[in-house]
Amino acid sequence: MVAALIDGKGFAERVRARIAGEVAAFVASAGRAPGLAVVLVGEDSASQIYVRAKGKAVLAAGMASFEHRLAAATSEGELLDLVARLNGDKRVDGILVQLPLPPQIDAGKVVAAIDPAKDVDGFTPQNAGRLAIGEEGLVPCTPLGCLLLLKDRLGDLSGLEAVVVGRSNIVGKPMAQLLLRENCTVTIAHSRTRDLPGIVRRADILVAAAGRAGLIRGDWLKPGATVIDVGMNREEGKLRGDVDFAGASEVAGAITPVPGGVGPMTIAMLLANTLAAARARAGL
Ligand code: NAD
Repeated sequence: MVAALIDGKGFAERVRARIAGEVAAFVASAGRAPGLAVVLVGEDSASQIYVRAKGKAVLAAGMASFEHRLAAATSEGELLDLVARLNGDKRVDGILVQLPLPPQIDAGKVVAAIDPAKDVDGFTPQNAGRLAIGEEGLVPCTPLGCLLLLKDRLGDLSGLEAVVVGRSNIVGKPMAQLLLRENCTVTIAHSRTRDLPGIVRRADILVAAAGRAGLIRGDWLKPGATVIDVGMNREEGKLRGDVDFAGASEVAGAITPVPGGVGPMTIAMLLANTLAAARARAGL
């Protein structure tokens, strides 16, 4: 192995400790704790694990956690009513509706109903638009966590060739916007991309978010590249990334492990966004 291991778990623990200190200061001045409402509809097993982990992290940071677990048969109208109530609830600074939603519910409509000031996932059209035009707003947690790891490792990203594999609204697109904001030359690759290996070979920074286990092979990489593996693919009870870790470790300069890389950063950024939303709402 020649690549350095990017310790997302350790980094996230340090971020979370810092946030807990800042939450205590917020409580002292605002007289209340920042609050996050998490809404889970149905029984998707991965979603249940994420929601539990998020709730625990929120409490550990000294914030208030409001969990709403709704039946899989919940109607779109009922969910929209809940979102409206949470928008109006003074104790709630952040609202997170766990995706995916059951088929009878239009996820886009529900996300768009969230008050952008409470949109700690950064998924509303307003926050996505702000990111696209370079205005301040709430930024999606996973790409924000990836960016922090990259800046910690590389410092100034200006002028670097960045390749993002995946173009989802949750990871790929906001990741590309963030890298562009850091003055990288950004390429977005996706399922219709011709010659993925040729494009990956250009990357000083590779962010893999395709949801395909082991898609990116070590011999595709530019030697010394910094590799951020967002993929979380469950195979025979084990979690695997989108990058062939063993092969990539022989070529890359640095790489995130799966698990222990991007995942813990996502939760840390959720806490950071909730605190930022609380401060903005309290005028602190
Ligand atoms: P998605 O399915 O919405 O999007 C996948 C993207 O990858 C699509 O844009 C598609 O065009 C592209 N793609 C698919 N197959 C490809 C191929 N063979 N070659 C090139 N591109 C291809 O997924 P998503 O929500 O963006 O998530 C991506 C991965 O990241 C998943 O494994 C997911 O579990 C993981 N994820 C991890 C975290 C975390 O906290 N670590 C958070 C969100 C998502």
